[in-house]
Parts: sequence; C-alpha cells; structure tokens
Amino acid sequence: MLNKKSVDDINVKGKRVLVRCDFNVPLQDGKITDENRLVAALPTIKKLIADGGKVILCSHLGKPKGEPKPELSLAPVAARLSELLGQEVKFAADAEVVGANAKAAVEAMAEGDVVLLENTRYRKEETKNGEEFSKDLASLCDVFVNDAFGTAHRAHCSNVGVTQYVDTAVVGYLMQKEIDFLGNAVNNPARPFIAILGGSKVSSKISVINNLLDKVDTLIIGGGMAYTFMKAQGGTIGTSLVEDDYLDYANEMIAKAKDKGVNLLIPVDTVTAKEFNNDAEQTIVKAGCIADDAMGLDIGPNTRELFADAVKSAKTVVWNGPMGVFEMPNFAHGTIAVAKALAEIDATTIIGGGDSAAAVNNLGFGDKMTHISTGGGASLEFLEGKELPGVAAANDR
Ligand code: AMP
Repeated sequence: MLNKKSVDDINVKGKRVLVRCDFNVPLQDGKITDENRLVAALPTIKKLIADGGKVILCSHLGKPKGEPKPELSLAPVAARLSELLGQEVKFAADAEVVGANAKAAVEAMAEGDVVLLENTRYRKEETKNGEEFSKDLASLCDVFVNDAFGTAHRAHCSNVGVTQYVDTAVVGYLMQKEIDFLGNAVNNPARPFIAILGGSKVSSKISVINNLLDKVDTLIIGGGMAYTFMKAQGGTIGTSLVEDDYLDYANEMIAKAKDKGVNLLIPVDTVTAKEFNNDAEQTIVKAGCIADDAMGLDIGPNTRELFADAVKSAKTVVWNGPMGVFEMPNFAHGTIAVAKALAEIDATTIIGGGDSAAAVNNLGFGDKMTHISTGGGASLEFLEGKELPGVAAANDR
C-alpha cells in the first residue's frame, strides 16, 4: 500500500515551499479556455498559504522543447490564479525559469505570498531529469510538494530530480486523491472488482491486461482492441482495427483468464460500417462475423446489455478506453451505455484519464463517478502495477 507523506503531515510556517502543479491548460490567443486544472490545484495552494508557507508554484505548459516560447508562457496562468486566489500571484518571468527574477521574488516573499515560475520545459534538462536544473529548483525551497499526477509517470527535474536535493518531499491533495483511489482500487478493491478496457490498441494496454487479470473478478474488453481478440478466436473481422502481432498474446490472455477464474467478456455483437464516417450506413452483426468489406466501429446492443449487466453487482469498477469511435456520435452509443451503467451502480467507479475521462465528462456523467483521474498515461501505468517515479520520489510516512 502506498503511504506517502502529504501536506497534512508537515509544518511549512515561514518555509519556502516549491509546489509542482499541473497547469498544462489549453490556451487560445493567450486566453485560458479550460481552467479546470487551475481550480483543481487550489486546495493544496490554499492550505499552504493558510499554514504560513512561502508558496512557489511551478509547472510545465505544452511542449516548448527546451527553449522559451512566448505563446507557452505561464504568465496568463499567474493572472488567472491571482483572481481565483484573491491575492497576487507574482510571476517570475525568467527564460531560464530559475533566474534573477525568480530569486529576487522568492527572496522578497513574506509568509502566505505566492510566486509562479516560468514554464519548466523552457529548460532542456527538465524532461531529461538533469542535475543542474534540479539543483536550481531545489535552491529556491526548503520543502517540495508534488501535486501533478499527470506527469507522475515521468522522471523530470521538477517532480523527481528536485527531490534529491530537498530534505522534505511530500504529495499534495490532488496527488493524494489519485494515489488513494487508483492504489486502493488496484491493490485493495472492494469486490467484485471489474475492469473495463477499450480504446484502439491491445499493444498499448498489454501490461494493463496482464496485471489486471491477476486482480479482477471480471475483465471486460471493448473498443478497437476487441477485434484482435475476436480474430484470435477464429472470427472474421473484415477491415476492423487489428494487431496481427498480438493474436497469440490475446489467446494467452484468454487462457490466463480461464486459469485465474476471471470472467473475461468480449463483445458478442458489433456495429459495422463500410466507411469510417459518422453518417456511414450501419449494420449490426454477431461478433466475429464481420463482412470482408466492413469494419467494427462500436459494440452492438446485446454487448451493451451484457456489459451493463456485468457491472451491476460490482463494488469497484475501473474503466479505461472508449467502447467504440465515440468521437463520431453515431458510434458513441456503446461508450454512452457503459458510462450510463457505471453512473447507475452503487460502487466505487474510477475512470482512467484521457479519452474515457473526456467521454464521461462530455456525455454529462462526470459527477456520477467516484473518481475521474487527471492523468491518462499516469493512470494507465498505475493499472499496469508500475511504480510511478513522481510518486516514488515523495517521502514515505
Ligand atoms: P486509446 O488512445 O488507445 O485509448 O484509444 C482511443 C481511441 O480508440 C479513440 O480515439 C477511439 O475513436 C478509438 N477506437 C475505439 N474503438 C474503435 C474501433 N472500433 N475502431 C477504431 N478506433 C476505435
């Protein structure tokens, strides 16, 4: 069980606290178009302000690839955060992130003040976990707080390297929530524990399937990855998405499920079309009986019922990956059916980040889920059973 020290376990009064946030917000013409990530960061920041810390915030934004790009400056974030917090967030506009402005601003801080550093990815070393930038960041602070789950699966200066040069490294509230929900679900779930996997490729979720088969009571596979399973079982799948290199693997997983007593469910019917197009004519066929010139783009109505029935008795459900090409509304019905089924059950429901989180939110089921992870890649690695470098770097309790 992961038991990391959090902001509730430390005393930051009068101390310089560097907080790694996830302020990777969408920007259009210098304006923030979705401020969810800023709002989500507020509880940790407010707690540190209330405790009398000198709060120094840092984050990456987009991919400036190691050099200053004015359109990826965090300046608009400082302005909006000032409004959200009701106090000035001083922006340290250094191209080298930890430069003269940042040093002077930190030097001048009183308890409860807030400073925001420039985009950490302006520095080349950031994504390589380089020593110099890690030391620069550490030189600004006495305590480090990591509240950026979205990058926790990467070892970068601002979430891992810096912790080597700071005595106290803890997690913030957002990070704690992710660890609690994902960690508990995978390692100590209330049962029955059901995982639903979808999305395009088996290859990107190999380790997730393998790891979850050791943990779950039922594993449901839908989306594009299901066709590799259908073909492996001898079905015809027409021009559906398939990874021929993974047919043996699919069969191994089917055998493993049997061996472990895991109920493995794959689609029993499929919505097919001859073109990859929202308005394409739809034909519903039995799974594994797809015409040569057609492709499967969604799970069929019987499968929706089968999957919805399967989750009814669940006490914990983890879902990652859409059931079909949900971006096209006519092929979103399978994904909607699963979202609806999860919204209606009395269970801990956890949505992996990325597409499934977007689908659940866009379809209006966001507030019906127990937890929607903020990190796509990071939550997948959690489900793979891997240790996340950004989590591992925080002090144990
Ligand atoms: P992933 O990034 O692997 O989670 O995959 C998400 C993508 O899988 C989405 O963009 C979906 O449109 C796509 N997808 C889901 N089902 C299918 C399918 N049957 N055929 C092609 N793409 C699919």
